[in-house]
Amino acid sequence: MAPDIRDFVVPHVRAMTGYVPGLQLNDRQILKLNTNENPFPLPPAALADLEAELHRNRLHLYPSPDSSALRERIGDLYGCGAESVFIGNGSDEILRLLFQIFLGPDDEAVVLDPSYSLYPVLAEMFQTSLQRIPLKEDWTADLDSMLLSSAKLAVITNPNAPTGMEVSRSDLLDFADRWNRPVLVDEAYTAFGTESVMRDAGRIAHLMVCSTFSKAYSLAGMRIGWLIAHPDLIREIDKLRDSYNLSALAQAAALAALKHLPVIEEHTAEICRVRDVFMQSLTNMGFDVLPSKANFVFAAPPSGEGRAVYDYLLDHNILVRHFSAERIKRFVRISIGTGESMRRVADLLAEGVRLSR
Ligand code: PMP
Repeated sequence: MAPDIRDFVVPHVRAMTGYVPGLQLNDRQILKLNTNENPFPLPPAALADLEAELHRNRLHLYPSPDSSALRERIGDLYGCGAESVFIGNGSDEILRLLFQIFLGPDDEAVVLDPSYSLYPVLAEMFQTSLQRIPLKEDWTADLDSMLLSSAKLAVITNPNAPTGMEVSRSDLLDFADRWNRPVLVDEAYTAFGTESVMRDAGRIAHLMVCSTFSKAYSLAGMRIGWLIAHPDLIREIDKLRDSYNLSALAQAAALAALKHLPVIEEHTAEICRVRDVFMQSLTNMGFDVLPSKANFVFAAPPSGEGRAVYDYLLDHNILVRHFSAERIKRFVRISIGTGESMRRVADLLAEGVRLSR
């Protein structure tokens, strides 16, 4: 009898569930507001630069192994040298490499709860313990309790997901000072209105900050993230990455987006404006709305479960995100689309609330 190939898989991987990303419904009819993508495609001028790169027809050659031009450019942007910058295949790769570099079976990481659902998967992957510090009653981060942890690595998402709520720069710097060992701030959504600590990373040797081109830069399809940290750590991470971890087109796309930063920033400002209007309309309908600084809103209907809102919107071809964990199952997380899309969502929700009275 042929062997069961799974019997050869190492037990801790066999036991894993793996990360479950938001649904990819490729139906064009669906308004996809479940994975915090940017509703604006890459600006045409940036797309033209990317097309020019494609037409150089150099794809038979390997790309820069360490994305050197992009490291330089991001270093310029944040006032540090390229030696403090690492480029990842999405910030998910950066998170994985940092777990891998710091954590083994006898170690522990500490995160907030709820937070980004990839962190527990990474802990399983490296057989490391994960301590979860519940958000306070008012959904703010309990950094004092986090400080009591003896974990080796602390990860703070700022603003947090799925709540969208921020921690101030001074609180983060105070935390880093008292924690005094590796702390990663995940700034995937910081561009949407939170004060960044990107310029403090590496200057404080144990403070690492990562972000992504998937949200504010309209490049989720290209998979590009960056990390700023102390050059000594960057050299260690470089030992672990894939030999050519970013494709030539991904590197070119990120450089093109950075060349047209003013248009990207206009898009970001528009998303923030639409978010604030949307939050206000949900509040007016009686939703419990957390004060979001991200490109999504976490809100609970005046009565009933978040799942009912999820199903109701899906019946109207709108896909949002619902989490089944007890504490947050009242809520739905809705990514911010264009002004027109969000008016449609708000009108439908107002109608739904009226019908449920
Ligand atoms: N961090 C957080 C908090 C996120 O929500 C996401 C996106 N799901 C990521 C990191 C990963 O982003 P990327 O597309 O760069 O892998």
